[in-house]
Amino acid sequence: MEKRKNPLATEFWTTLSTDELSKRLHELGPDDIVFTPEYYCVSSGQTLPPTDSVRMLVSSSSAPIYTIFSGQLGSGVVGGSMNTLADMGRATRALIDEILEGQVTDHNEVRAPTAMVQLDWRQLHQWNIPEARIPPNAIVHFRPPSLLELYRSQPIVGAFICIAQGALIVALLFERRRRQKTAKALAQSQKQATDVARAARLTFFEWNFDSAAPVGPSRKPSCAPNFTKNEFERVIDEVHPSDREHLRSAVQHAIDRGEELNLEYRTLGPDGRPSWVSVRGHAAPNGQARIAGFCMDINDRKLEQLQSAQDRAALTQMARVSTMGQLSAAIAHQLNQPLMAILCNAETARKMLGRNEPSLEELKRILSDIVEENVRAGDIIRNLTALYRNGVTDRTAFDLNELVLETAELLRAELTARNVVTRVELAPELPAFDGSRIQIQQVLFNLMLNAADAMAETKIGHRLLILRSAMKNESLQICVIDHGDGITPTALERIFQPFWTTKPQGVGVGLTISRTIVEAHGGSLCASNRLEGGAQFCLSLPAQTAT
Ligand code: ADP
Repeated sequence: MEKRKNPLATEFWTTLSTDELSKRLHELGPDDIVFTPEYYCVSSGQTLPPTDSVRMLVSSSSAPIYTIFSGQLGSGVVGGSMNTLADMGRATRALIDEILEGQVTDHNEVRAPTAMVQLDWRQLHQWNIPEARIPPNAIVHFRPPSLLELYRSQPIVGAFICIAQGALIVALLFERRRRQKTAKALAQSQKQATDVARAARLTFFEWNFDSAAPVGPSRKPSCAPNFTKNEFERVIDEVHPSDREHLRSAVQHAIDRGEELNLEYRTLGPDGRPSWVSVRGHAAPNGQARIAGFCMDINDRKLEQLQSAQDRAALTQMARVSTMGQLSAAIAHQLNQPLMAILCNAETARKMLGRNEPSLEELKRILSDIVEENVRAGDIIRNLTALYRNGVTDRTAFDLNELVLETAELLRAELTARNVVTRVELAPELPAFDGSRIQIQQVLFNLMLNAADAMAETKIGHRLLILRSAMKNESLQICVIDHGDGITPTALERIFQPFWTTKPQGVGVGLTISRTIVEAHGGSLCASNRLEGGAQFCLSLPAQTAT
C-alpha cells in the first residue's frame, strides 16, 4: 500500500493479514491516526463482529483509532463524526415520509442526517489530545464528572447544615439566656422565700407515711421537714414525752380523715430543753398517707403566753385560796365562841367530877350548855353554806362549753408544767346555762386541779385529763376525768365532807364548796371510779335554768 504525503498522507490497508495488520498498527508513530469504517474479515476467513474487530485493532495500535459508528464508542476508539443508529432511523423515516408525500422526486435531494463529532474522553486523555482541540459542538462521552458535579449536593447539604447549626446555636443561646433569667428569678424568689421563712421561723415539710423512700434530703430535728414512715418513730423520739401521744394521734386523725393538722407540741433539744413548735399541714386528699405543711418555731411566744397564763392562773388560784381562806377564817371565827364555851363547860364538868360529891344538877346544866353550844356551832356552819347557796347573785346566761375551754386554757401552763395533756370532748350546741359563771368556773378549777394532783404518780405520757360535756336526761353534764389511781372506797364516802383531805398541804374544803355551789345552782356533783382506771367527777346542772 502506498503512503501518501502532505497535506495529509493516507494509507488504505485492506488486504493485510491479521498479523501484518497488527504489526503495522504497532509500528505507527505519534503523528499517525487510524480510521476504520469497520473490520470484519481475518486472514483465516473468519468474520469478526465489528466490536471485536475494533477491539483487536485497538489492542495492537500505537496510534489513536477513529471510526464512524457510535456503536464502537467505548471499545477503545477515540471517536469520530458519526450518527447513532437511532438518528439514522429517524432520518430515514423522515425521508420516506417526504418521498411518499411527493416532496422528494430526485435522489439528489436526499440528504444524509447531520453527523455529530462524538469522542471518548478517556481516549482523548490517553492520546494526550488537548481539550482545546475538541470541536465546540462535539459530544464527549465518558467524561468523569467534575468535582463540582461530583459534590454538587454536598455544598448544599453543608450550607443547610451550617444554617441549621447556626439557627440551633442562636436558639440555644436564647434558651440559655432565658434559663439563666428564670434560674436567677427562681433563686431570687427562693431567697426571698427562705428569708421570709427564716424571719418567720418557718420550715416547710412533707411527711410521707406511704413510701419507704425519703421525700427530701434534709431533716432538722426541731421540726423534721421531711420524713418517711420509717423515720416517724425517730421524729417522735425527739418530741417531749408528754406530747408524743398527742402528735401521734393528731397525725393519724389528719391522715384518716384527710383533714388539717394543726397543733402545738414540744421538741427536745440536744441539751434536753423543750422548745415549742407549731405545726400546720394538710393531708393529701386522694387517700395517700402524706401531709405537707409548715412548722413554726413558737418557743418565745409560747413561753410568754404560758407565763401570762400562769400569772392569770396564779391570780385565780389566789382568789380561790383567799375565798377558802375567808371561809375558813369566818368558820374559825364564828365557831370560836361556841367551841370556847364547850371547852369551858367541859373543863368545869371534869373538875366537878374530881370533887367528892359533885352536884348532878350542876353537871346536867353544864352538859345542856355543851349541847346548846354544839347546836349553835352546827347552825353557824349551816348558815355559812346557806350564805353560799343564796350567794348565786351574779346570774348570767353563758355557754358551758366555752367556759370549759376558757378554764382549760387558764390552767394550761400549770397542767403543762405537770406534764398533763388535756383532751376536750365537747357536745355540740349545748343550750346556754343561766348561773354564776365565776362560781361554776371555780368548781371546774377545783376539779381539774384535783385531777392533776391525782395523776402526780401516773407515768409521764399517760397523764391525760379529759373534759367532757354532754346533754343527759335534760341536764347539762360536765365531767372531769383523770387517769390517776382513783378514789379509795373510804375516801369516796368522805371526800365531800368539810376539812377532809389526804394531801399534806390540803385544806379539804374544795369539794365541799364545789358541791355547795353546784347545789346552789339546783344541780348535783358526784364522784366515781372508772372501770378503765382513774376517777371522774361529774356535775349535772338543770337544763331548765337555761335561758
Ligand atoms: P383538797 O384538795 O384540799 O384535799 P378537796 O375537798 O378538793 O380538798 O379534796 C378532798 C380529797 O378528795 C382530796 O384530798 C383527795 O384525797 C380526794 N380527791 C379529790 N379529787 C380526787 C381525784 N380526782 N382522785 C382521787 N381523789 C381525789
